Amino acid sequence: MADMTSPRTSMPERDPRLRRRTFEEVSLGYTEEMAVAEANRCLQCKHAPCTAGCPVNVRIPEFIAKIAARDFEGAYQAITQTHGAPAITGRVCPQETQCEAKCVRGIKSEPVAIGRLERFAADWHMAQKPAFALPKLPANYTHVAVVGSGPAGLTCAHDLAQLGYAVTLFESFHTVGGVLVYGIPEFRLPKTIIRRAEADLRSLGVQIKTNTVVGRVVTLDELMEEGYRAIFLSTGAGLPKFMNISGEGLAGVYSANEYLTRVNLMHAWNPDYETPLIKSRSVAVVGGGNVAMDAARCAMRMGADEVHLIYRRSEAEMPARAEEVHHAKEEGIQFHFLSNPVAVTNNGSGHASGLTCVKMELGEADSSGRRTARTLEDSEFTLKVDTVIMALGTSPNPLIRMADPNLNVDRKGCIIVDEQTLHTSREGVYAGGDAVTGAATVILAMGAGKLAAQSIARALETQSD
Ligand code: FAD
Ligand code: SF4
Ligand code: SF4
Repeated sequence: MADMTSPRTSMPERDPRLRRRTFEEVSLGYTEEMAVAEANRCLQCKHAPCTAGCPVNVRIPEFIAKIAARDFEGAYQAITQTHGAPAITGRVCPQETQCEAKCVRGIKSEPVAIGRLERFAADWHMAQKPAFALPKLPANYTHVAVVGSGPAGLTCAHDLAQLGYAVTLFESFHTVGGVLVYGIPEFRLPKTIIRRAEADLRSLGVQIKTNTVVGRVVTLDELMEEGYRAIFLSTGAGLPKFMNISGEGLAGVYSANEYLTRVNLMHAWNPDYETPLIKSRSVAVVGGGNVAMDAARCAMRMGADEVHLIYRRSEAEMPARAEEVHHAKEEGIQFHFLSNPVAVTNNGSGHASGLTCVKMELGEADSSGRRTARTLEDSEFTLKVDTVIMALGTSPNPLIRMADPNLNVDRKGCIIVDEQTLHTSREGVYAGGDAVTGAATVILAMGAGKLAAQSIARALETQSD
């Protein structure tokens, strides 16, 4: 009989005092012995509630049983029956609200560390098996365009190429990966993993066209005229929101998207690059999600003396993953809960010199169950900072919809699709990921990429019958 109270196997991590100044990965991964020990905590439940908690229904008991039997490659193969990027999801999925939230081991003690085991199987596979040509069906010479190379686009391009389609992937940046490269920092998701996914795509024959902004350089009509029989739009939600408070236009105020892009994609941390950031002494990050945690932890690694995180509700309401909040605290980020910015102050030369905030208190829950936040009178205080990073959320990039009036969008700018097929209001055009849902998660974007590939293949097969 299994000991139902045994705690989960802890994950080795880099020392916070050392890691707060480097971009090296924080979590170091399980050894084989740790993975087997953790896999043995799984009860192999017949109804597998964990699988129902996963948005793509990974066969969790099956892959964990293989790890317990030391069949690590078998575990990897079992996971990749449902999705192809466990090295990514094992690191960044919000497991605590998905698969692990449903694990019965969580009732009496801690849930099985499903994400860590998923990461282990993927890393083991990558270490043992260098990139090699992936199996694919014979070429059918039917051209499909995928626009945007985040997790949705990468997954759709991969699946269609495996089915024999001639896929071209268009990306506006100079490199593929979407948020996986420009948003999520190296210390959470090493870029070698994305380069491996890119190599897999190339081995499947996918043409990759970077530095190509669809809607500007080439329109959807032109793509159709060029012979693309279907188009998948996976352009993400990269348009930042601001607070519209005074001083937001001052130098030293960034959106988290810009700041993270400059650090992660434009190598601002590397003094040898020509795109540096002005060194900050004291930084305020506004927001309470994963993006805010990433921005704050990057600012610390960029050499700031102090990093403050400002959030209008209390810690319990923070949308960020608990693990990220824990890591941020360990690294010395100073949290200011129940605080809301009202102005950025000017140093007299057009540069930010402080962030004035008011204190908040929580009121009754609204119709969504979320407690409203109210300003406390005479509670103003100013933090002396030279850099302010706004991490308040994003909405879908407007470029595609502006360039194509036939594409129906909702009032938030999200592309409207048929939920079963992901088909848009334009014939032959499909969409998925954050461009449809608004800012969401990596695994949901991957699930959308998979569904779109299936729908596109089905539609094109029917047309050619
Ligand atoms: P994206 O990843 O946004 O990719 C869209 C791509 O399309 C981009 O590369 C963009 O350059 C390109 N593009 C846009 N317009 C055009 C155009 N007109 N022509 C050509 N290319 C175009 N989710 C998690 O599950 N866990 C996390 O820990 C997590 N952390 C996050 C941290 C940050 C900083 C951010 C910003 C997001 C995070 N998310 C996380 C959310 C997650 O990354 C997104 O939900 C996911 O990346 C969406 O995937 P996507 O493929 O729809 O779009
Ligand atoms: Fe859990 Fe994400 Fe893996 Fe699904 S894909 S089993 S939610 S870690
Ligand atoms: Fe194993 Fe937990 Fe899933 Fe049961 S619910 S099969 S214990 S991972």
